[in-house]
Amino acid sequence: MSEQVASAGEREPLSGGISHWYNDIGIPEPTDRLDGDDECDVAIIGAGYTGLWAAYYLARADPTLDIRVVERRFAGFGASGRNGGWLSAAITGGLDTYARLFPRELVSRFQLTMNDAVDEVIAVAGREGIDAHIRKGGTLLVARNPAQLDRAEELAAMAARWPEIGGRLLTATETAERIDIAGTLAGFHEPHCARIHPARLVRGLAETVRRLGVRIHEDTAVTAIEPRLATTARGRLRARHIVRATEGFTADLAGEHRTWVPMNSSMIITEPLPKDALEQIGWQHADTLEDLSHVYSYSQITQDGRIAIGGRGNPYRYGSRTDNDGSVDAGTIAALRATLVSWFPAIADVPIAHGWSGVLGVPRNWRATVGYDRSTGIGWAGGYVGTGVTATNLAGRTLTDLILGERSDLTILPWVDQRARTWEPEPLRWIGIHGLYRAYGWADRLEFNGRRRTAPIARVANLISGR
Ligand SMILES: Cc1cc2nc3c(=O)[nH]c(=O)nc-3n(C[C@H](O)[C@H](O)[C@H](O)COP(=O)(O)OP(=O)(O)OC[C@H]3O[C@@H](n4cnc5c(N)ncnc54)[C@H](O)[C@@H]3O)c2cc1C
Repeated sequence: MSEQVASAGEREPLSGGISHWYNDIGIPEPTDRLDGDDECDVAIIGAGYTGLWAAYYLARADPTLDIRVVERRFAGFGASGRNGGWLSAAITGGLDTYARLFPRELVSRFQLTMNDAVDEVIAVAGREGIDAHIRKGGTLLVARNPAQLDRAEELAAMAARWPEIGGRLLTATETAERIDIAGTLAGFHEPHCARIHPARLVRGLAETVRRLGVRIHEDTAVTAIEPRLATTARGRLRARHIVRATEGFTADLAGEHRTWVPMNSSMIITEPLPKDALEQIGWQHADTLEDLSHVYSYSQITQDGRIAIGGRGNPYRYGSRTDNDGSVDAGTIAALRATLVSWFPAIADVPIAHGWSGVLGVPRNWRATVGYDRSTGIGWAGGYVGTGVTATNLAGRTLTDLILGERSDLTILPWVDQRARTWEPEPLRWIGIHGLYRAYGWADRLEFNGRRRTAPIARVANLISGR
């Protein structure tokens, strides 16, 4: 382990092993493997939030349905058991982009529905007895150099155009009253976000759907999805409806290699903070926290007083490869730690307990989608980029309406049945994605070295990526 990662006398942080969240609750043993050929009404491929929310709402809407969720490893193995725990109403792709493509009224409704989805997740967790350590304190975005301040003001202008977001610009003092971050110039606070313990939510959901009669066939990898048929090494599962809920792993499925690229996100978490450090930092509302860098870092404070912080690390592996066990390299752990200590110098001596990573699905237009093709009986949801914790709930409810053939307020939202063009073949894909992140990193350095406005290279990168 490099000295950058572990300071003197400190033990090495764990790396991989899925995530800290599973260190906390224990890695589950897979159960109920598919045992030979079978048939059912709905086969959902992937037991993350998307698959489990779809199963939850379908089972409640029609308890007579035979619903199976087919999962390669165990429920919550993917991003749903590894994420930063932001239950956020943010819409991937941004409202202005949607407003260029759809009527404003529909985009407004989309945002309001996402706001409600945060509360829906909280309500279901309460009703079903899922203790996911949820606290709703909103999101705080912090500006720490003049160019970031510029972007905080752009956010404030956007919030004036879109009051549905409910965001407001905070002075440096108001920001520090929420969380005391070194070098803060200003903040922007959005109310529609809660902090959660990701694995507690996904495992709680798995238990809940099992109670409703849904079977989850774990340790059962699907190799191909065809109309009315999911093929696995353990047998063939016939179904009237099939839902593809494989998100960052979708590239592994036949015919889907260039649909969504698997992008990595990495995280570290500290040991519980000493009382005096907690008192100095504040963070009494448990806001989720992000900086306004281009290669941004996102963070939460856990119920047991640790700080978890995530960022991009190695953004993409050549050929859309996915790394399953969540291991993360020492350089990424060191970089995340350096960011954390630059925010909170008072915790420079607090050891890092764990580092891990996961994959998220990114469509070519950076906008999530949910859809269902009645002619093939195949539905899908994903491409959430970094904001799927709440959107998966809305996706699950939307898939339910689509599969049951009900036109509802949800099925007309602008993300339904959207298809982005496929990603470029390699090596263009690798060069493009790594090039973009180099450009963003360069822009961040220029801005920390005194550039007062957003670096033009970042704006060009935004144009190219469609972000
Ligand atoms: C490190 C990290 C931090 C993040 N932080 C946040 C955050 O704070 N807030 C936020 O909103 N979003 C965040 N995200 C994104 C968010 O976690 C995801 O958008 C969300 O969990 C997606 O849920 P899902 O069910 O669609 O996918 P997943 O949880 O990835 O589930 C897909 C499942 O499909 C299974 N599977 C894949 N292929 C097959 C197959 N062939 N056969 C059977 N099963 C298969 C996988 O094993 C997996 O369990 C983060 C992601 C990562 C990786």
